[in-house]
Amino acid sequence: MLHDAGVRTVVAPGWQNRSVSGTPPRPIGVLNHHTATPSSARNPAPSVQLTIDGRSDLAGPLCHIVIGTDGTAHVIAAGRANHAGRARASGPNPGGDGNTLYLGVEWDYDGTHPPSRAQYAAAVQVNAALLRHLQRPAEAARGHRETSVTGKVDPGHVDLDQFRRDIASAMAAPAGDDMQLSDEFTDWAGTKKTVQSLFDDLDRRLASFEHIFLKPGSEPSRIPGDTNRTNLRDAIMDTTARVVELQREAGRPAPWPEPLPSDNLAPPPHPESPETPQSKESGGEKPDGASEPRPSRKPSRTVAAGGAAGAVGTVAVWIASLYGVQMPEPVAASIVLVLSTVMTYLVPTPAPKQEARR
Ligand SMILES: [Zn+2]
Repeated sequence: MLHDAGVRTVVAPGWQNRSVSGTPPRPIGVLNHHTATPSSARNPAPSVQLTIDGRSDLAGPLCHIVIGTDGTAHVIAAGRANHAGRARASGPNPGGDGNTLYLGVEWDYDGTHPPSRAQYAAAVQVNAALLRHLQRPAEAARGHRETSVTGKVDPGHVDLDQFRRDIASAMAAPAGDDMQLSDEFTDWAGTKKTVQSLFDDLDRRLASFEHIFLKPGSEPSRIPGDTNRTNLRDAIMDTTARVVELQREAGRPAPWPEPLPSDNLAPPPHPESPETPQSKESGGEKPDGASEPRPSRKPSRTVAAGGAAGAVGTVAVWIASLYGVQMPEPVAASIVLVLSTVMTYLVPTPAPKQEARR
């Protein structure tokens, strides 16, 4: 029943016959509590065993269902449970023996702050499913503080009127028609997944993408000797800049012209002037005064290839890391640098037209 409501459900062995002695419950409502125990993502339902065993002053079971902070419902008992004490009339429900009148749902959190979203959502679905089964309205869901005659305050930081409105919406929705987070399917690789695990997976990958591309410090710097860390976007820029530098050191022509000083922008330099930036940069390679076509503003094939190789190497190293292949940073950085440098020298710079004619 809870499973059909899309709630991840775990049953504690022996739950069908677990009961304290006394009148079997004849529930007309659901009573919601907090356990007052700190829970966390790592330990989402620390009170399950305690609610089964009971305390020295109160025999277990102490409720019927425990909802973890992760939204998992642990079914503890089907019989009578010590959770409500005496109950005063509340909403549509009469007063009397609370443990006869109510099914008990413990939300496992400390009550000093609101429950987690997953816990709240699961509680809405659990209450809706139980009340539908009992053929009772959403108003029959109560908080312990609404029935207690001893001043209980649980569940803490929950707006119970809003909670009942949410239960009413859940009960109005056709049961089982919607896709649920717990629905299972088989993905393209034949892996069994749930809708929830698919979302979790997507979330992780997007976060990983964002981290490595944009967060500073996610990647080692590609500048030789630089011990700072950077991100992948800047690392690719650095690699490209390094390739340009290597070209200069090798005495090759600059891959693209230096920007002209703004005074010289109009009129443009005479195409036959020896003062064009290209001839300045590559000094000595061409006879002075030789006519020279205006250099293209596009980066040369060499630099594009080097940059692309660097980027491909970086992405490959990152993808490898996603699949658990961890390599020391210097190794990864060297692979990327060597790859881009090799490509820089392998892909020939197109020969200037002047030289091609001679
Ligand atoms: Zn309580």
